[in-house]
Amino acid sequence: MKETTAKKLSLRGAVPLSHFFLRQLVCPGDLAVDATCGNGLDTLLLAELVGEGGKVWAFDVQPRAIVATRELLEKEGRRECVELIEAGHERLSEFVPKGVKAAVFNLGYLPGGLSAGALAKAGEHPLVTSPQTTVSALEQAASLLVAGGIMVISLYTGHEGGPEEAQAVESWGAALPPKHYNVWCSRQLNRPPLAPYLVLVEKV
Ligand code: SAH
Repeated sequence: MKETTAKKLSLRGAVPLSHFFLRQLVCPGDLAVDATCGNGLDTLLLAELVGEGGKVWAFDVQPRAIVATRELLEKEGRRECVELIEAGHERLSEFVPKGVKAAVFNLGYLPGGLSAGALAKAGEHPLVTSPQTTVSALEQAASLLVAGGIMVISLYTGHEGGPEEAQAVESWGAALPPKHYNVWCSRQLNRPPLAPYLVLVEKV
């Protein structure tokens, strides 16, 4: 089996911490979802972990994100097991069956995308995730998890609308029944208060 590309372990930041959990849990043959593929780094890790016998569904509403993810997967020889879906993750259960081992939500803006000003000039809107569709997708993903499956949600509060989305995710997680889900919130205490943080959901 091929080695994963990001070999070096780091716990600096929400996304590296989410990868730490994914590496513990996701095995060859598993089913996984990347709800916000963006530049494709989470999709690539999931594809490496599930291997040729597994499957990953990767969603994004921006064509440029789907293209970037496809190119990265092709470059790394991991295109086979990934279904790329140019649609909102609020439609998750239309595409993904039950039995998911891991679902990744990396919220906020696409890094390296155009600035708000440049987008406005081009007549495009900045495509940032939003509370209502995010919570709808989280709800669907939670119902598709296998027992022992996880969701990792990286939250960003430094942009307009970010704090409201983070609050919506926390309220959603806090309301999950503890009999069926374990829900964690991890913040890096020695970084600025606006640093991204991680919410982790395990299905019991
Ligand atoms: N903020 C992160 C990256 C987030 S990428 C970082 O800095 O690393 C978030 C992705 O979610 C973007 O590519 C955006 O296009 C996508 N997105 C926004 N709304 C979406 C939706 N409803 N469904 C799926 N993807 C969505």
